[in-house]
Amino acid sequence: MSFSVSQFKQQFPLFSQPENRDLVYLDNAATTQKPAVVIDAIRDFYLHSNANTHRSSHRLARQATAMVERVRAQAAAFLGTGNVREVIFTRGATEGLNLLANSLCAELAPGDEVVLSTAEHHANLVPWQMAAARHQLHIRYVPDERGIPQFDRLVEVLGPRTRIVSLTAGSNALGFRADLAQIRQMLAGRDLRWVVDAAQLAAHEPIDVQEIGCDFLVCSAHKFYGPSGIGLLFGREQWLQQMPPWQGGGEMIADVDLHSSHYADLPHKFEAGTSSLAAIAGLGACLEFLQSQDRAAMAVHEQQLLRTLHEQVGKLPGMELLSSAENNLGILAFSDSRFVPVDLMHWLDGKDIAVRVGHHCAQPLIRATGHSATLRASLAAYNSEQDVARFVAAVAEFLDQLDSAENAPTHVEPEVAEGWPIDDLSVLDIEALRSRRGWQERYRLLMQWSKAIAAKPIIRSPEHLVQGCESSAWLVHRQLGEKHYFALDSDSRVVKGLGAFLLSQLNGKSLEEVRSTDLEALFTEFEFDKHLSPSRSNGFYALMQRAMAILEQQK
Ligand code: PMP
Repeated sequence: MSFSVSQFKQQFPLFSQPENRDLVYLDNAATTQKPAVVIDAIRDFYLHSNANTHRSSHRLARQATAMVERVRAQAAAFLGTGNVREVIFTRGATEGLNLLANSLCAELAPGDEVVLSTAEHHANLVPWQMAAARHQLHIRYVPDERGIPQFDRLVEVLGPRTRIVSLTAGSNALGFRADLAQIRQMLAGRDLRWVVDAAQLAAHEPIDVQEIGCDFLVCSAHKFYGPSGIGLLFGREQWLQQMPPWQGGGEMIADVDLHSSHYADLPHKFEAGTSSLAAIAGLGACLEFLQSQDRAAMAVHEQQLLRTLHEQVGKLPGMELLSSAENNLGILAFSDSRFVPVDLMHWLDGKDIAVRVGHHCAQPLIRATGHSATLRASLAAYNSEQDVARFVAAVAEFLDQLDSAENAPTHVEPEVAEGWPIDDLSVLDIEALRSRRGWQERYRLLMQWSKAIAAKPIIRSPEHLVQGCESSAWLVHRQLGEKHYFALDSDSRVVKGLGAFLLSQLNGKSLEEVRSTDLEALFTEFEFDKHLSPSRSNGFYALMQRAMAILEQQK
């Protein structure tokens, strides 16, 4: 077998919808798109065989039950266990980890230890923290260097009280992988349970729990082209038998009376309530789909793209990457002191390139790298060289806009009074904005205008924070005689640029003059509503509304 990106991508109907023809989707670590076979299977389930499983035995119920157990057998093969009793359906990796934290920790004694790493997704941190508080357990962390776990030093934190080691197979924030074979060696012969968070790994290569040698493993179908709302928990039968169930309810019992219950056999003991049946049907189709692909060739393709992405973005002026192409599950990550990542994200969004910014649910790791947010581009097999080229070109253009803003004169001649300066915005010429042809040119000018807004740490307090701005913005007001003045601060260049535009229309005017200024008309005239992402537009309106509310209070 071999791999053709275009043939692979054709199987994902989202990309052929008219509104998505230009889409470059690089947010695959968050969730992947779905092939037609998965969408059809979900629809077909509701269309032909929707019924609840196990509880009743009419024709449709038998059909649905058989489907669920068939998919369980497929999932057992997908995970590399031949034993269906070792496969629990969950809502996703998060639920699998919560189940483990609850059931495994219930048996532990105060002072027992759980080992985690600084690179864990919050789903593999918070449930253990909660269980540790409940059972007086200690959490220890694999030694790290600036947040990056040194998995080869895992033994340093293993001790006689270590009962659980729960580690990621690959970081969802920076992409680096853990060496599972090495971890297996270090854990060999110890009386503890090893949990692998394979939420990212499962999207990029086949999983084999026998080869990995772990006791438990979790993943979410939506990360590997399957539906959301369904995930898998693998657990060794021997341990699952001993563990108390996590949730109680229907399906997980054999017999119930008023004072006690007997639980069902594995795997149903851990599946309380009605499962996500349609999602299980979709998962079945997804597993068949994956089986029919040349996964090794898919991985080669993804790795090639990842190298290109790192090489080309790494070459852009002043760019320092937080991720490396080596040993990486398909993620490029960076942060840059010249701009807040959310500005670049919106710029890319304006070109229909989807990426993610933030801490990626791995706050301790991102903080340890010295940042509060990063921009992450994450790959799947339907991404192409053209996707990478468009992303790189768009980032380069954004940096170019920044550069021209750097060279723009700083117009600030602050008049310092009462603690914060009134920026001099009189030099911002609306006619210059009017004469700029095209959005790109206007955006460039807005970035230059952002320089007219001086930093004002003094106004960054909760009472001045404007809700509704995706990037924080603070707005203050002062009246001098009849005239009103506002000042603003934000980390975002775009918010500052838009704010400069807004304040240039308000500052130095009386209430009557402000009232006769049609800000919304200007906003439409300059096509901000067309080119800015909705959250940016909402941010602008939030600033405008706050300014107007402040003015109305002055009467
Ligand atoms: N662990 C990792 C490494 C992940 O990337 C994610 C999802 N981003 C999760 C756990 C949680 O998965 P889910 O939200 O599907 O439960």
